[in-house]
Amino acid sequence: MLSFVYQTQPSRVIFGAGCVSRLPEEIERLGSSKALVLSTPEQRQSGLEMLERLGERGAGLFERAVMHVPIETAEAAREEARRLGADCCVAVGGGSTTGLAKAIALVSSLPILAVPTTYAGSEMTPIWGLTEGGRKTTGRDFRVLPKAVLYDPCLTVTMPAALSATSGMNSIAHCVEALYAQEANPIISLMAEEGIRAFAESLPVVVKDPSNLEARSQALYAAWLGGISLGTVGMALHHKLCHTLGGSFNLPHAETHTVILPHAVAYNTPAVEAAMSRVARALGAPSAPQGLYDLAASLGAPTSLASLGLKESDLDRAAILAVENPYYNPRAITREGIRALLQDAFAGRRP
Ligand code: NAD
Repeated sequence: MLSFVYQTQPSRVIFGAGCVSRLPEEIERLGSSKALVLSTPEQRQSGLEMLERLGERGAGLFERAVMHVPIETAEAAREEARRLGADCCVAVGGGSTTGLAKAIALVSSLPILAVPTTYAGSEMTPIWGLTEGGRKTTGRDFRVLPKAVLYDPCLTVTMPAALSATSGMNSIAHCVEALYAQEANPIISLMAEEGIRAFAESLPVVVKDPSNLEARSQALYAAWLGGISLGTVGMALHHKLCHTLGGSFNLPHAETHTVILPHAVAYNTPAVEAAMSRVARALGAPSAPQGLYDLAASLGAPTSLASLGLKESDLDRAAILAVENPYYNPRAITREGIRALLQDAFAGRRP
């Protein structure tokens, strides 16, 4: 029988090819006038173009965003925002760049305008993360939720095929776990299923032809749905495992999600069969775990932890760490069960 709590968060989304040209008016709409633009070193050129587009509304560019937001980078960016007298931040990039904007907002409440260029989904969540002394801390705070998000598929055509595939699988993971989240509700489930469907349709085209704007647009739409799913309901075993593997073994974020997802889903399916038939339906596959594995493999994405550089001798410790703190999961978590799951993921076995 249905029973749920549904709570949304404020969000303003501007979507469409070329919509980034509306950034200046969006800044004005917030009552801001001096934006600090953020990017990674690799996307410096995009950052500079954005700064130029902003004209007198641009305060400067901070181009040192890196994965997992080291506290030193966060402090340098906060100081730069203060020095330049910025009254908002524009994050042009993936989860790492949005994450840096969030680290600034967390201590200053500076509003964030996000211009996502991957499918990670951070722009739709109030979740922040900071890494200090090799330990990543995460939390939820509504000050870090972007005030406006401009989804422009034109900015995603430069995303390499390999990152497009794994970033898409990362977002599919948000959708999959939303379907069996503790706070799962019918509205988010509709969005999550639609996100998986739109990715399953668009990612094969994106990987073959990264400049196909129609497919890029579909994939970015799917990423928006994945971001909403992640930001609205809690996640479970899959995200916990990826957090552990990323944090303790320094494995790459999107690739780790890609490898673990079919195995986490295989583990959970006996407890959530109805939700996983929705995943299978969205993928057009007979089963969710196999459909997810086959999608990743067909995109040429990694399918084994071994290929990401994890050592087999690390699996015992990974299993211990992953069950250390209790958290919600639809199926009871046992160390033996997780150890077996990790062995399958290590070998890249089709579930
Ligand atoms: P990323 O932001 O680290 O980007 C990976 C690389 O791709 C970078 O060098 C970046 O500059 C480059 N890149 C991004 N878009 C590009 C494009 N369109 N063209 C060319 N190059 C491009 O990768 P990510 O997977 O988006 O983000 C991962 C990080 O985000 C992790 O630290 C993860 O924990 C975090 N994250 C946080 C949340 C949240 O809600 N807080 C959600 C998802 C991910």
